[in-house]
Amino acid sequence: MNQNCSGVLIIYTGGTIGSMPSDPTDLSSPLVPCKDLTRLFSFIDAYNAEDSVMTIDGCSIPVDTYCWETPLDSSNIMHQHWVEIARIILKNYSKYEGFIILHGTDTMAYSASALSFMLENLQKPVIFTGSQRPLVNYRSDAIQNILTSILYASPISSNLTTIPEVCIFFGGGLYRGNRSTKISTTAYGAFDTPNFPQLGQAGNTLWINKSQILPDPHHFLRTHDNIVPNVACMDIFPGMSVELVDNILNTDGLRACIIKTFGSGNAPSTPEFLNVIYSAVQRGIIIMDITQCWTGEVSLGRYETSSGLLSCGVVSGFDMTMEAALAKLFIVLGLKRSVEDTCDILQINLRGEQTQSAFNLRYGSGSMLSDSVNAVELVRSMVYKQRFDPKQLSFAQLRVTGVQFDKKEDSHIEFYLDLPDNVEPCKDFGIHYLGTSKVSKNSKKDKHNINLNISKSAKVLIDNRHKHTITCVIKSGTSFEYEDMRIVLYT
Ligand code: ASP
Repeated sequence: MNQNCSGVLIIYTGGTIGSMPSDPTDLSSPLVPCKDLTRLFSFIDAYNAEDSVMTIDGCSIPVDTYCWETPLDSSNIMHQHWVEIARIILKNYSKYEGFIILHGTDTMAYSASALSFMLENLQKPVIFTGSQRPLVNYRSDAIQNILTSILYASPISSNLTTIPEVCIFFGGGLYRGNRSTKISTTAYGAFDTPNFPQLGQAGNTLWINKSQILPDPHHFLRTHDNIVPNVACMDIFPGMSVELVDNILNTDGLRACIIKTFGSGNAPSTPEFLNVIYSAVQRGIIIMDITQCWTGEVSLGRYETSSGLLSCGVVSGFDMTMEAALAKLFIVLGLKRSVEDTCDILQINLRGEQTQSAFNLRYGSGSMLSDSVNAVELVRSMVYKQRFDPKQLSFAQLRVTGVQFDKKEDSHIEFYLDLPDNVEPCKDFGIHYLGTSKVSKNSKKDKHNINLNISKSAKVLIDNRHKHTITCVIKSGTSFEYEDMRIVLYT
């Protein structure tokens, strides 16, 4: 970090932390955000208003403040407010060691998630905090939350490890912003990251979980402030009417919908439900699957009840929180890419918001002729554009969906990857042979999916330096058409 910067900038947006009774003579009157930050900070003994310095544990930390003209209860936060926060940070980025956003707790996890995606290549701490009780209240948790956030946000002054992330500090815990969720309306420990370890803990000493914090990106900060909020979110529940799902997915202007599903990404597998999902995907609506569970992740294709979603073209949200999934969609849609590219970017871990990444090598749609060698060329790939690290590859799958045969006969389809020139396809041909898919003539389904685990071959053959070709041989039976062929690489 540039050693010329000093102290922190506190951006006050509103929330309980800065609220006062609307009627000063009646302490039980409804709380409204106070507009005078200097008056608020006069309640903090550690603050010297004349020198703009906080003295905490023997460290004198310069503190500047920026107050929104109209501080808000965070339930009124809109995506335009995130743009404002990002712009203030960008404008002041070189001056300070870090930034603190005083924010209401109700939507803090959404705002922290959004800012994490909006601030690319962040090298300084950006810490959201607030409180359950107003700062002016004797039994408030505000002062602890503010003072400790200041220490975490000023690594040079406080001699702590730099945390180059958007975080939430609350009730003694330091959390990754885009893994956080509000878990209590009243407890002082109002936040948690149920599916990810804590980044730090403030007790007698300030602990930082160094093994979990994101690496320094070693690049200049870049902000993404084009936000497309045309996103819906729906919880799936037993008995949910297909008509309701269809109505939501037919909302005017809708670009994407998060479905919060059961367990590892499961939903009803009835043809009526799947048809509604499939037709939305065909209309270009991105559907992202996240789980209703607090821990674990979506694993599409593990059960029959999620295989249908996978075939429809639903995108996995892995272990993302709803807040992170929503924010990621808002910002990735704002990149104005094609639907395919948008889906591919969404499946990559961008800011530590999900544990896994899936990189797609897309071969598109096409047809195969029986008793011939069909070579399929790559049409689009995220592997060459993004940070795919072949050494991190954990699992690879060849996926062919919407396969339709022209006759009802037993078929054997052999797949090969990067078959060397002048070599006849042959099962014995080592690592290039991916496997055989057998489709039986008794199968009643008119559309089939082929999924082959190709991890062993992918580990040896796939890197990010050349484009890969798939060779497909139909040994017996019929010709077929397919809607989509891709290799999915999981890291
Ligand atoms: N309603 C308040 C807000 O989110 C609650 C809080 O700050 O704790 O602004």
